Amino acid sequence: MILKIDRLPVELPVPENPSPNDAAAVQELLGGKFGEMSTLMNYTFQSFNFRGRTRLRPFYDLICSIGGEEYGHIELVTYTINMLLTGTTKRGTRPETTPLENATDARNTKHFIASGQTALPFDSMGMPWTGNEVFSSGNLKLDLLHNFFLECGARANKMRVYEMVSDPTAREMVGYLLVRGGVHIVAYARALERLTGVEVSKLVPVPDLSNKAFPETQKYESQGVHRRLYTFSEEDYRKAGLVFNGPHPEDGQPLEVVFGAPAGSPAPDLEEEPQLNAPGADNIDPQMFKDIAKKMGVSV
Ligand code: MN
Ligand code: MN
Repeated sequence: MILKIDRLPVELPVPENPSPNDAAAVQELLGGKFGEMSTLMNYTFQSFNFRGRTRLRPFYDLICSIGGEEYGHIELVTYTINMLLTGTTKRGTRPETTPLENATDARNTKHFIASGQTALPFDSMGMPWTGNEVFSSGNLKLDLLHNFFLECGARANKMRVYEMVSDPTAREMVGYLLVRGGVHIVAYARALERLTGVEVSKLVPVPDLSNKAFPETQKYESQGVHRRLYTFSEEDYRKAGLVFNGPHPEDGQPLEVVFGAPAGSPAPDLEEEPQLNAPGADNIDPQMFKDIAKKMGVSV
C-alpha cells in the first residue's frame, strides 16, 4: 500500500519564460522511454513480483524504497510542465477572441485540447507511455542490471533536456533529479556488487560528465542529498541499508539510509484557466463547505 504526502520533493521557481515547446521537451522526462513513468512502474512491478524475499530481503527493500521515490519524481516533472504551460494563452471567457491562438504553433496541441493546459503521460513527441517500458524478468541480476541501465539512460536524457531548455523551473527540476538519479545509479551498482562481486560502480558516471557541471546540483550535493537513500516508509524497508552502504564512488563520503521521506515543499496552486473552462464549476457556493465544516468540526 502507499501513503501520500501533499508536497513536492523540492520547491520549483516560477518560470521566467513559460513556453509550450519547452513543456513539450520536458514531457520526455515524464512519459519517455527513460522518463519517470518508466522508473516508477519498473521498480513497482519488480517489487510486487519479487520472489524469495525472505532470503533476499535487502534487495527487495532497496527496490521498494527507490520505487516509492519515483512517484514524487513524476509529480515534480508534471508540475514543471504545468508551470511552463501556465500563462501561454489569453485568460478570459470570450471564445471569439481566439484565446488559444498560440496553441496552434505549439509542438504539442494536446496540452491545450486534451488537458487543461497541463501534462499528460506521453513523451516529447506526444507518444503515450505504455507498459511495454516495464522490464520485470523475475531474475534479480537481470532486473538490477536493467535498472542500472535505465537510470543511466534517464541521466543522459535529463542532461540533453537541460541543454535544450534554459528556463529556471526546468533546470531546478533537472538539477535535483540528476542528483537523485545519481543515488539510484549508485544503489543499483552497489546491489550488483553485493550480488556478484563485480565492481559496477567503476562505470560511474555514465554519461562521462559529473553532476557538478550543472550549477543547480551544487546546493543539493552540499546538503548530502547525493549520498542519501530514502525508504519512503517510517517502519518498513529498513534492510535497504545492508546493500546501500560504504563510500560514494565519486567523493568517498559515506552513503546513508534515511527512514522516511524528504521534508519537501508545498505544491504550487495552479491558477484557473477560464478560456479552457478549467476547472469550471463556476456556480459552486463557497459558503457550502464552510457550513459543512462547521457542523463537522473541521477547520478550513
Ligand atoms: Mn526518478
Ligand atoms: Mn531513479
